[in-house]
Amino acid sequence: MFLFGINSEDKVSVADLKRGMKNGEFVFYYQPEFNLKTGEIIAVEALMRWNAPKGIIPPDQFIPVLESSKLIQEFTDFLFRQTLTDLKVIQNAGYPNVSMSVNLSAAQLTDKRLIPIVQTVLKETNTESKFLECEITESQRLEFSDTQKDIFKELQDLGISISIDDFGTGYSSFDYLRYLNINKLKVGCDFARSLQEGVKSREIFSLVIQFGHILKVPVLAEGIETTEQKEWLEKNGCDYGQGFWFSRPLPLDQLIIFLEKKKEN
Ligand code: C2E
Ligand code: CA
Repeated sequence: MFLFGINSEDKVSVADLKRGMKNGEFVFYYQPEFNLKTGEIIAVEALMRWNAPKGIIPPDQFIPVLESSKLIQEFTDFLFRQTLTDLKVIQNAGYPNVSMSVNLSAAQLTDKRLIPIVQTVLKETNTESKFLECEITESQRLEFSDTQKDIFKELQDLGISISIDDFGTGYSSFDYLRYLNINKLKVGCDFARSLQEGVKSREIFSLVIQFGHILKVPVLAEGIETTEQKEWLEKNGCDYGQGFWFSRPLPLDQLIIFLEKKKEN
């Protein structure tokens, strides 16, 4: 896959984004998440790509612009509509219990239109809310405003799960753990990478796993790239895993081929 890097004189503009949206250039790639004990696929994470005329543009190069523009609501609507429509295809491919996990930014979580959009799309795509997870990244300062707390509560009242993304790489104030009912802790890629660095890194990862378990929250390790990492995590009680070792993020058609092959093994 060719990833197009944008340099400073070639920044994404809101007009580019608008044109891209109109032309259907935004697509989702899906990366499966696995139960490390059973090998079962539990969910897929939706990761957005911009299939621009110049090549594929990764999310960190356009999402910040999108967030600061008025396009964010249109984008949120598209995010839920597309991923939940694709979830039907995945579930119908023989994986009826797989969930869809979507990334939400702070800007989306401040938007009062979020809940009505989610409700409408769940209804229109005939999706049970228990199959939807929202990931909130810890690298943003997780001190939520009252509006955001209300939005979380409403999401969870609807039966939607909330995961903390990139856990351990942000501010880790832990304050949010008191009032947020977290359903999954996703430990950032850097942690899996650090496992081969030495005893100290492994002890820290062990503590993070125990921390989750004390709170009765399952822990997922992101960025698993090697057999050694996978085996260590499995042995040390990490619940779930995700990373290139299992599968790279894939477009829907390739994900379905991957799932078909998995069933045969
Ligand atoms: P993230 O949520 O932490 O996503 C994980 C990133 O790690 C993804 O990068 C994924 O492709 C990459 N990754 C997965 N497995 C491995 C591995 O084994 N090794 C390595 N080195 N990397 C791995 P990606 O797709 O470029 O996404 C970057 C970030 O953009 C995401 O980080 C997420 O915060 C954001 N993002 C992606 N899609 C969306 C979206 O629809 N909405 C919002 N708000 N943010 C999104
Ligand atoms: Ca994520």
